[in-house]
Amino acid sequence: MLNCEQATRLQSESMERPLSLKEKVELKLHTAMCNACRRFGRQVGSLRDMSRQYRDQQDNNSD
Ligand SMILES: [Zn+2]
Repeated sequence: MLNCEQATRLQSESMERPLSLKEKVELKLHTAMCNACRRFGRQVGSLRDMSRQYRDQQDNNSD
């Protein structure tokens, strides 16, 4: 079972690399029970969306 530190680290790492199936399952199990990490995961997710939008804009500008 992951602790909160491991779970938040995995969530951060998921921005940089695809997580393995095992990591995804462990993370899902943890966030299902842990409010704090669920919230953190949402923040990471929105950060990822923002950086993707930023990249898309850069691509459009270079057109
Ligand atoms: Zn946690």
